[in-house]
Amino acid sequence: MTTYLDANASETIRPKARATIEAAWRLPGNPASVHGPGRAARAMLEEARVRIAGFVGAQPKHVVFTSGGTEADAMAIHALGYNRRQLIGATEHDAVRSAAREAGILPVLPDGTLDLAALEAALAEGPPALVCAMLANNETGVIHPIPAIAALCRAHGALLHVDAVQALGRIPVDLAALGADSLAISAHKIGGPKGIGALIFARDFPTRPLIGGGGQEKNWRGGTQNLPGAAGFAAALAMNPPEHAVWRDEIAAAAQECGAIAAGLDAPRLPNTLCLILPGVRADLQLISLDLAGYAVSAGAACSSGKVAKSHVLEAMGLAAQAGNAIRVSLSWATTHEEITGFIAAYRDMATKLLRQAHLRKAAS
Ligand code: PLP
Repeated sequence: MTTYLDANASETIRPKARATIEAAWRLPGNPASVHGPGRAARAMLEEARVRIAGFVGAQPKHVVFTSGGTEADAMAIHALGYNRRQLIGATEHDAVRSAAREAGILPVLPDGTLDLAALEAALAEGPPALVCAMLANNETGVIHPIPAIAALCRAHGALLHVDAVQALGRIPVDLAALGADSLAISAHKIGGPKGIGALIFARDFPTRPLIGGGGQEKNWRGGTQNLPGAAGFAAALAMNPPEHAVWRDEIAAAAQECGAIAAGLDAPRLPNTLCLILPGVRADLQLISLDLAGYAVSAGAACSSGKVAKSHVLEAMGLAAQAGNAIRVSLSWATTHEEITGFIAAYRDMATKLLRQAHLRKAAS
């Protein structure tokens, strides 16, 4: 049995979400139909919308269901970035980077948080902008100071889109407290199904859909809604166990004793996420060794391709030289302390073995 410590790639489905999805599959109706079965489907969809809105302090009418976080980010940039300059943080997810290809890149400080002075200078430089800043980074767990970013945006007439995909369920996410104009969230990062997410607006904005069609989602997104997905998403909403931060730090302390560096250690971070750099040891070798020992972790942002790519996040933090030596450990809502203890032992074995091999290789060359 493999111990799953890759929740930031995709969470283990929560039992309540699975049961709700199964119930939703039994409903034949289309939420747009006016007959009884259609109304039953519609009622379930709207109940999901209300619960999701309530979880982030938004109004149900401002929740637009999407196919996931990637589409929610793309929709926000398409709608709110229209006729505006676009500015994005250097450590944003590829979902944002690819939807805002022409954007100006805002640097981060060595601790991984957005450089507020650079943001202010960029905002002061030109016409009104759309700023994209993630609440928490998927590779390091670093939490950006969104309320301060929002205040700067407001002062300069800019809009702010926040990718809260990794933050949801791990830290409180409240739209008004953050001061964002829109939020992207995704079900499979919190124990809901894959393939459903939402873009949530703070107020009404002019409709500018990415996908046209039959007028669903108040004309924001054409296509029959993914009812089992939406219902499963709402049923998965819960906060992770409060012990995660302690467990994360237990792993970090043990890894540091082995010679590892934890990225973003000086910044506020998600309780479930740890980015560990083992200097001189390739990330793929670490992954394989831990996999053979029965522990599933990942290298950087390998959440879609599964391949070990160079991390733009660590590069932006000034850790380019070590970017190929980093693995990400991300705890699931289902993780137990026994699994943490087992992982620490496996990490020690892996680090001892691979550091010795790296040392021998260096001595021989
Ligand atoms: N934003 C962040 C920060 C993510 O970590 C991810 C997924 O890894 C996404 C967006 C994309 O979400 P989805 O997989 O639902 O498209």
